[in-house]
Amino acid sequence: MDWDEVSAEWVSRFRRNVRRWYSRCGRDLPWVGERDPYVVWVREIMLQQTTVKAVVPYLDRFLERFPTVESLASAEVADVLRVWEGLGYYSRARNLRLAAKMIVGEWGGQWRETAKELQTLPGVGPYTAGAIASFAFGQSAAIVEANTARFYARLLALTDDLHSGEGRRQLWSLAERIVPRDRPGEFNQALIDLGATVCGVTPQCQECPVRRSCRSLELGEVERIPVRASRQKMTDVFEVLVVIRRGHHLLLIQHPEGKRWGGMWGFPALSREKDQAKDGIDERMVESQVADWGCDVECDEWLGEIRHTVTRFRLHLQPVIATLRSGCWAGPVDAEWVAVDDLASRPFSVAERRVAKRVEHIVRQYGASM
Ligand code: SF4
Repeated sequence: MDWDEVSAEWVSRFRRNVRRWYSRCGRDLPWVGERDPYVVWVREIMLQQTTVKAVVPYLDRFLERFPTVESLASAEVADVLRVWEGLGYYSRARNLRLAAKMIVGEWGGQWRETAKELQTLPGVGPYTAGAIASFAFGQSAAIVEANTARFYARLLALTDDLHSGEGRRQLWSLAERIVPRDRPGEFNQALIDLGATVCGVTPQCQECPVRRSCRSLELGEVERIPVRASRQKMTDVFEVLVVIRRGHHLLLIQHPEGKRWGGMWGFPALSREKDQAKDGIDERMVESQVADWGCDVECDEWLGEIRHTVTRFRLHLQPVIATLRSGCWAGPVDAEWVAVDDLASRPFSVAERRVAKRVEHIVRQYGASM
């Protein structure tokens, strides 16, 4: 079907059916009707690649800590990352803060209302801009996110990869054609809800209010669409995390911006050979590599391996507690001695927080006698 030529009658029937369905079956989300652009923006950034259920407590905590765009703009990046900790994709939290600074500093605290202007903010792409413009400002702005992309693809019987240039063009072309001038935010929410529930991973076509407009159903291709792009291959990464300890203090490094977990705190890492179990790791080699960073240490205690997946990397982290005998840090990244009691105040990735908690427990239990 060529959506550029779809009739006005088709569009108005489609909109009518979607609205009717939404008034009966729309999800009872805690933010339905929310029109504060700041709240809409933070929520939509959090919802990317995270479930509604997981987002609710994070959103509450975030808004309690940073209730206004001004409070976020003046916050320290470490404080923002600490509240974001556990959600992953930490560049989003850093971009939120940068965008808040831009809204306050360059826009004088006044929001722009069109999707085009909103897209000039760091970290705000076409979807987030369309969501803020339609939900908060009632602009007739289109949206395409994971749920609507799957739904539109089936409506169109789209056989292109949804992330390809042509796939995206077709999805956005349909989204722009169907978004109304009247209550566009409510209509967009209805589309998201339809995509999340009725046209989910397992589509419920019998309950679908727009089944008569669905090309995939007509062609008997529902099971095949959307066409899955070939999965990205996972790469295994093996590292030793060296927890350098001096009494009740641990040496924490700050991961550099642009690198894995940029801006978060953690532990110096050494590469290790694939499949090298802890018994096979040469302690002298670890100590000599740490000596290159200026610290003379002695490996004391090996902790259990931690496995964690970040994007397409499967991390195998082998932590070791190493006592500092002499020297001071001269490694390639910023580092600080932090008291075990203060670890909770620093932002960590989920994996390194697990390491920190184990070490904290051990140091409290055995103290300086280790
Ligand atoms: Fe999705 Fe089925 Fe509705 Fe088509 S008819 S839009 S496949 S739920």
